[in-house]
Amino acid sequence: MPLSRRQFLTSTVGGLLSTSAIANTRWEGPEAQGTLMTVLGPVKAAQMGTTLIHEHILVDFIGAEKINENRWEREAVIHKAWPFIEAVKAAGVKTFFDCTPAFVGRDPLLLKMVAQKSGLHIVTNTGYYGAFNNKYLPAWVHTETAEQLAARWIKEAKDGIGDSGVRPGFIKISVDEGKLTPVHQKLVRAAAITHLATGLTICSHTGRAPAAFEQIELLQAAGVQSAAFVWVHAQEEADLHLQAKAARAGAWVSLDAIGWGDPADYVKPLLQLKGQQLLQRVLVAHDAGWYDPEKPDGGPFVGYTALFTKLLPLLREQGFSQADIDQLIVHNPVQAFTTGIRRA
Ligand SMILES: [Zn+2]
Repeated sequence: MPLSRRQFLTSTVGGLLSTSAIANTRWEGPEAQGTLMTVLGPVKAAQMGTTLIHEHILVDFIGAEKINENRWEREAVIHKAWPFIEAVKAAGVKTFFDCTPAFVGRDPLLLKMVAQKSGLHIVTNTGYYGAFNNKYLPAWVHTETAEQLAARWIKEAKDGIGDSGVRPGFIKISVDEGKLTPVHQKLVRAAAITHLATGLTICSHTGRAPAAFEQIELLQAAGVQSAAFVWVHAQEEADLHLQAKAARAGAWVSLDAIGWGDPADYVKPLLQLKGQQLLQRVLVAHDAGWYDPEKPDGGPFVGYTALFTKLLPLLREQGFSQADIDQLIVHNPVQAFTTGIRRA
């Protein structure tokens, strides 16, 4: 059952008081403690089980100006995705993060239907996607302040997305490569404000390291620990030292495109991170799916199981224990996404 507005506010204030002194302490709010917000309401984080932290059921690349929910039929999307959802369940997955942001095809009612039909814990997000030269940003992002943008995202966290009643379980933003533009810096600041009000973790589609470190610095300057930040698509950085550096700084390093290319490419970075005792800061996923309304019958669909069928056997051959694997796909997702304010 979703938190009432009053409980939400009470627990947020509790978090501000209790986490200010000690780094890495979890939010101690009475209601949100140890929970993850799914599209069907909060669950105890201990119940997340095997988790895929970055996947997509639907993505629409038409752009913020033209996107609307009439561009797809929910039943058709579910029909297309269903065999892949079943396969994910057969692989033992219990929790599935849908990383499609607003104005890129985020559809809370679709996700609610999939959650009800599948029994999976499904998690959606709030935030805006700046990458690809702002094509997916609504016009008001250019005129509003970070505080105003954050107010929109905090409202979704408190009251639900639109009139769906569905609340986000994390913040998803994105930035282009290289030095952040002022608009993308504003998205990061808005994410920081939203985190400090809601305790939701910030995932940012980033790519290579310079933009990741700039975001970590901006968040710290805004009072947010790097432990609240997930460097999405960190596999795009070829210099593995930089992934280790981010992990050592406390950020989450997300190696998350196993669905694209060769899963064997993930063995070397994971071995290196394990060798440096940094596995406890690493997340893995496929970035797979999805139904694309632009294409006939949603186009080709990439499944969500190569992690289990291809990468994990390779890691076991290289000495990964069951405890290491549980760290990656069970314990780290709990640590990364349990609702909690992480104040710098
Ligand atoms: Zn993605």
